[in-house]
Amino acid sequence: MSSLIDALLMPSCCACGQVALLVVMPTVGARVCEACALELSPTVIQVPLRECQQRYAFFEYAGSVVPLLSRAKDEAFGSHYYAVQSLFTAAAIPLIGKEKAAEVIVTQVPSSLRRSIIGWYLPTAMARHLAKKLNVKYAPLLRRAKQVGRQSGLGAIERRTNVQGCFAPRRFLLRNVTKDSLVVVVDDVSTTGASLGEAVRCLRQIGCTNVMAISLAISPLRARGC
Ligand SMILES: [Zn+2]
Repeated sequence: MSSLIDALLMPSCCACGQVALLVVMPTVGARVCEACALELSPTVIQVPLRECQQRYAFFEYAGSVVPLLSRAKDEAFGSHYYAVQSLFTAAAIPLIGKEKAAEVIVTQVPSSLRRSIIGWYLPTAMARHLAKKLNVKYAPLLRRAKQVGRQSGLGAIERRTNVQGCFAPRRFLLRNVTKDSLVVVVDDVSTTGASLGEAVRCLRQIGCTNVMAISLAISPLRARGC
């Protein structure tokens, strides 16, 4: 009982979880401590990939973003997810709007087998919500064709080799895509961009010429192995 009273009287920061004086972030609707509020203002970071010039992220994967994203990854439709969703959508809409594409289709990097068994995969939820807000089509254009070993601990080149051929197109969904379509691939965290690059490569193979890759966060430079 005391913990319930504590929770009501002393709410904790949505990002770092600390009990502190909280402020409501207007774009997010979540209550965060002042330190996290400062860290959680998105900026557009463009980090081109070999496969995709238009590869963007809004945060470095550091500070308050780390606990916020790791909780959103594990708790389906919890307050952390809604904070992530709002931050992502608010930053992505103007970026996509600049392209002035005749048609936009939103998709995501396919989930691992483990995530599909759990039934909650953050990039899918982010992509669906973004499509809804943009009033455009959402389509899971790619599927996982094979399982790969863990990416963590591998360097940039090893990661690329590891993910080769791990995605395949869902061909029956391709009737949604025309040559003028802008396909937006969503991911939550990108490290070296190996998975995003592979997803873009796969989309290009099936005729998507205009592809944009957006992740909410990207690993800081030293961790990208560049
Ligand atoms: Zn905080």
